[in-house]
Amino acid sequence: MGIPFESKAPHRDGRDPAPGALADGPGVPTGPVDPDDPASVLEQIPDAFLAFDRDWRVQHLNWKAAHLLGASRAEVLGREVWSALPEAGGLEWESELRRAAQGSSTLHLEKYFRSPGAWFEIHAFPSRMGVALYMRDISDRKWTERSLRDSDHFARTILASVGEGIFVLDRELRCRLWNDFMAQATGLTAEEVLGRPVGEVFNLDASPGAGIGLGRVLEGEGFRIPSTRELVPSTRSQRWVDLVLSPQVSLEGEVVGVVGIMHDVTDRHAVEERLLHSAMHDPLTGLPNRSYFMEQLRQANDRARRYEDFHFGLVFLDVDHFKVINDSLGHQAGDDLLLQFARKLEDCVRPGDIAARIGGDEFAVLLYDMGDEVDATDIAQRIQSSLGNRFVIQGREVFVTLSAGVAVGTVGYERPEDLLRDADTAMYRAKEKGRGRFELFDAEMHKSAVALLLMQTDLQRAVEREEFALHYQPIFDIRDATLVGFEALLRWEHPRNGLIAPGAFIHVAEDTGVIVEIGRWAAREACRQLGEWRATSPGASELSVHVNLSGKEFVQPDGVGEILDIVRGAGLGPGSLKLEVTESIILENADLVARALEELREHGIELSIDDFGTGYSSLSYLHRFPFDTVKIDQSFVSGAAAEVSNQEIIRAIISLSHNLGMDVIAEGVETSEQMEMLLRLGCDFAQGFFFSGPMAGGDAGAYIDRATATALAG
Ligand code: C2E
Ligand code: CA
Ligand code: CA
Repeated sequence: MGIPFESKAPHRDGRDPAPGALADGPGVPTGPVDPDDPASVLEQIPDAFLAFDRDWRVQHLNWKAAHLLGASRAEVLGREVWSALPEAGGLEWESELRRAAQGSSTLHLEKYFRSPGAWFEIHAFPSRMGVALYMRDISDRKWTERSLRDSDHFARTILASVGEGIFVLDRELRCRLWNDFMAQATGLTAEEVLGRPVGEVFNLDASPGAGIGLGRVLEGEGFRIPSTRELVPSTRSQRWVDLVLSPQVSLEGEVVGVVGIMHDVTDRHAVEERLLHSAMHDPLTGLPNRSYFMEQLRQANDRARRYEDFHFGLVFLDVDHFKVINDSLGHQAGDDLLLQFARKLEDCVRPGDIAARIGGDEFAVLLYDMGDEVDATDIAQRIQSSLGNRFVIQGREVFVTLSAGVAVGTVGYERPEDLLRDADTAMYRAKEKGRGRFELFDAEMHKSAVALLLMQTDLQRAVEREEFALHYQPIFDIRDATLVGFEALLRWEHPRNGLIAPGAFIHVAEDTGVIVEIGRWAAREACRQLGEWRATSPGASELSVHVNLSGKEFVQPDGVGEILDIVRGAGLGPGSLKLEVTESIILENADLVARALEELREHGIELSIDDFGTGYSSLSYLHRFPFDTVKIDQSFVSGAAAEVSNQEIIRAIISLSHNLGMDVIAEGVETSEQMEMLLRLGCDFAQGFFFSGPMAGGDAGAYIDRATATALAG
């Protein structure tokens, strides 16, 4: 048993080194043995010999017996055996000894004697005189046996208490040892397992390569079967186990079997799974998160590309006005709503579908296999109606609607993100159409999405190739009918689509940021054009040019510096360039814009507030900004002649502006009635089709000549 185990023999008093050393008187074995004299033979043997008469008195004893009793022969001879051998009486062997004396049986037993501290093998048989007793010291054998038993016991204790599964297979791969932990971890007892082939005990198919690995172990190599759950096909098989197999080598160096150690790694797996789960799930709702969802979407997409009849879909859901709930009832209420929403969503998706939280108040459902006939809109409708719109949050009843967009996966999708994007686009369409509804992403949306994408790239190219032009619309002082300047209006000369008005592309340019470059170009070009007019037309010396600025241009780090450079570069004096900014720009970035405007004003650049009246700023807000001019939005002007309320608004704007020292320009003047009304209300300047639409730079030069000639003549 290779386990180191120290056998511990009890103390033996050391009086036993050599025969005769302590024996006394005659009978000490000194001389050669006379085979004809039994007594001399008895003296030489290493065993104790005693003979009693029928009264149990000791009649004979050899030196070893005297030594065993720790007395001289004289002291022992004639004494009753029960007193001579103190441990002889009252013990279980006394009756046997008595039976042996009667000749009914011989006695044979092994007995431990405390006083010499030794084990004896005892034979008693009837003799002519009475009983002969023969005692052999078997202590050495006893201690060896004992130590073997102890080490075996020790090994078994370890095997039983160790917190790992240990088993042994023989060369035929039959189970030969199965410790308690194995039984506990697998639910299979040693009785059920021992003697059975390993393939019946473990499900080796669950771990590819296990069979080959076992073969290699028999050739002397170690082998590890990595974590599997199905390895043990019993009731406890839900546990994750690792198996380490090593050859069992005999003392002769032969592989006689396989020693297996099984680690239960279920707890470690549970921790790993928890970590994995939290990486893939949203902590608030417990639903799969965006990254997990995208992975599933990718798999569905891959599948759709492989199998023609596999269709999948995506529903993108967004809570309407979620911000209002958050802002009015608090974030806790917002979380509460999302949580309730998540539970309802989980309940109404089909098994196999995946509901996930994609962002703040955005959810998505992957409709995994839609089959042929099922319409994605049916499913979206069902989700929307089963989610309901009544929620109770913190004891309060709130009505919440959802907007949903649906996209269906077709082979056309290269990347899963595109499907999500399309469902998102459809969802926005649903919001535009009044919320609380769903929209299916269709060819039309696809077209406009593609068009948008095309326009983004086209615009970038247009900037590089300078495909832009400015058209100029004259502005008149209506009090004396003189031309005072032009508003520069951007046009895109698209190589394929012709002239495009700014309304069709400015918002895209703002989204992508190219508006900054376009705006710089427009300011430079307008200044250059004004310089040219002044050089060629005598009437142009007093004219100014108005350039529209987008909000993005202000938030640029040195937006103001660049504009100033442009004006200086064109060699124009102060008052030549006027910048128009809309009310909405001011609302978005009030402080930043106010500072930028102040700086421009200090450098003699005049400022107009454009589209005034369409935003939400109150009139009194105006004095916070250094504007020179207010441009009344054309919507008031076009309806002004008909509606009294519009006239009142115009009147109020004019009077307040004048009080604040600002001039007023009316835009979109188309008719003489509108002109008369503006004059009556005290408006200073006007522009519109009544005078002229926007025109190309060269045409505007001719226009200046005509207009100033009339004025000079008039
Ligand atoms: P806006 O600044 O309000 O420009 C006036 C718009 O009204 C121009 O449209 C002009 O052509 C149009 N208009 C002029 N007279 C009349 C009229 O009598 N009746 C009607 N119904 N419309 C009239 P346009 O040129 O299409 O420009 C649209 C908008 O695009 C501009 O509105 C302005 O906000 C923006 N925009 C134009 N050029 C630029 C530019 O260089 N940079 C930036 N950031 N925006 C620009
Ligand atoms: Ca304008
Ligand atoms: Ca305007």
